[in-house]
Amino acid sequence: MGDIITLLPDHVANQIAAGEVVQRPASVVKELMENAIDAGSTHVQLIIKEAGKVLIQVVDNGKGMSVTDARMAFERHATSKIKAASDLFALNTKGFRGEALASIAAVAHVEMLTKTAVDEVATQIKIAGSEIQEQEPIVAPQGTSIAVKNLFFNIPARRNFLKSNTVELRHIIDEFHRVALAHPQVAFTFFQGGQELFDLPAANLRKRIVHIFGSKIDEKLVPVEESTSVSSVSGFVIKPNAAKRTRGQQFFFVNDRFIKSPFMHHAIMNAYEGLLVDGTVPGYFIFFNLDPQTIDINIHPTKTEVKFEDEQSLYAILRSCVKHSLGMFNVAPTLDFERDPNLDTPYRQVNQSAGTPQLEVDSSFNPFKNPDARRFSKPNESSWESLYVEVESQRVSSSLGNELNATPDYDTVKVFQLMNRYIVSSIGSALLLIDQQRAHERILYEQFLKTITQKKTASQQLLFPYKLELNLTQQAFLSDLEEVLVEAGFIFERDSNITIIIKGIPSSSSEKEIPNIFENLFNSLESDLPADSFSQSDVLSKSLAKTLSIKRGVSMKPEEQQRLLDDLFACKETQVSPFNRQIFVTLTQEELDKKFT
Ligand code: ADP
Ligand code: MG
Repeated sequence: MGDIITLLPDHVANQIAAGEVVQRPASVVKELMENAIDAGSTHVQLIIKEAGKVLIQVVDNGKGMSVTDARMAFERHATSKIKAASDLFALNTKGFRGEALASIAAVAHVEMLTKTAVDEVATQIKIAGSEIQEQEPIVAPQGTSIAVKNLFFNIPARRNFLKSNTVELRHIIDEFHRVALAHPQVAFTFFQGGQELFDLPAANLRKRIVHIFGSKIDEKLVPVEESTSVSSVSGFVIKPNAAKRTRGQQFFFVNDRFIKSPFMHHAIMNAYEGLLVDGTVPGYFIFFNLDPQTIDINIHPTKTEVKFEDEQSLYAILRSCVKHSLGMFNVAPTLDFERDPNLDTPYRQVNQSAGTPQLEVDSSFNPFKNPDARRFSKPNESSWESLYVEVESQRVSSSLGNELNATPDYDTVKVFQLMNRYIVSSIGSALLLIDQQRAHERILYEQFLKTITQKKTASQQLLFPYKLELNLTQQAFLSDLEEVLVEAGFIFERDSNITIIIKGIPSSSSEKEIPNIFENLFNSLESDLPADSFSQSDVLSKSLAKTLSIKRGVSMKPEEQQRLLDDLFACKETQVSPFNRQIFVTLTQEELDKKFT
């Protein structure tokens, strides 16, 4: 057999490398922003369209590139940042692999404009699928602008694999946060589709955190500071009573590079021991300054993991200084353990002046035709039939014996509530135990999904319009969700960019739940979304179901219990809640008899 091995052409090698470096628009944002920082910029602008699917552009005022460098920058392993392997241990730049621009240019249309301080004119380069298409001198100010268009235009499988704009935007905002937090001395602006999401002036770290996350975070920040001869730890932790159930404000930086570290996270959790309500996670912004010789950032291609030479002592330093700060700022004694921070009302109700209530009549709404639009429908026979179908489909019928086939006698079926959390009923000779909260989550989830997809909106007008103040991220999420929110029954108006006025809510919700509805919704959008089965109507329906469901511990009237039962068994899916939890258990006579032998 002859020789069969050949070297891959560059554009193929680049495309393969791109698979690692460029996973989604957010990866491009990260690489371009880091290059801008490495170039010594004091102002970095990020501009995106369609969550980066159409355009990602980063404009900086850094040192720029010469004509030759501009061309070289797109070659694989072309970097100005290291010259020898030993340089890896004295890194003070973000980049060093020289792979980013080559990879990006292999999978997108790239236009670069760049000018150094000494050159008279700037260089413009256009490149697509690794092919240089145009290079010419042009007039432009010092700095670099790189526009990446139509990401994955030549890899349809990857393009189709991208998630919805909400999800991709969330990833981009995450990367933006990370770079912006690591470099408070650099000014950043961020535009999405012509709308300004962030305008961050150069500032100190505390102000940068406040500019990003909103002024309410200021009073919750507790400074952390500790330095030894070899390392320093500094930054802020968030007071324990402001810990959240969802992850999102946890940041570690090593030499100004964002990293993930479950080990260091553990050190922090350890420092908060005894101070947190179960299931909550505190926020933190921790900066390690370490001798580059003692770390290895080379172990992960996208460089968010780091190997520390002496992780045990770093762990101990971090834990003790966080503990110390929490004690010193006296946060522990003011804690109220009974308080559930989820119940905090984050939004003020303003605009209290009483107006004449307006009624909006939904002419298509007929409670008899469309019982699902109400919180509970009346008991009806069809739902009992579906209970039988359901039970049969579970194949419990054989173990239930003949009773199951008997016609149900409605008057004799009794329901009652146990421990304010279970609804107990019987079916044939079997005992039925239903988790009230999960059952109600299922009912509401299906109702909202149906309302949204069939556009059978039923709203109730609010007596007092509710004003919600939104931070910039929330605004972006909201404008993405606007359509489904309206379809679900919300009526709102934009006051300014930061405030929206809620004038109507779905008829199945109540006014006092508005703050919770929005807080939970933003939380679920801000925390990591499940990558699969994501659609906006699904996310909204799940979030509303979770917020509005009857919780465990709430006592229910007998009619309500009965309706819950009926509504549950009228659902398409009766076994599991929208969060995949089992809704009910049955105990057959056989199983009961066994317990009494
Ligand atoms: P790396 O950052 O690992 O060196 P990249 O592919 O990201 O690799 O960039 C290649 C080179 O192009 C960099 O080393 C740098 O010299 C140059 N470069 C990239 N972006 C910029 C920029 N915004 N300003 C100045 N030079 C840049
Ligand atoms: Mg780089």
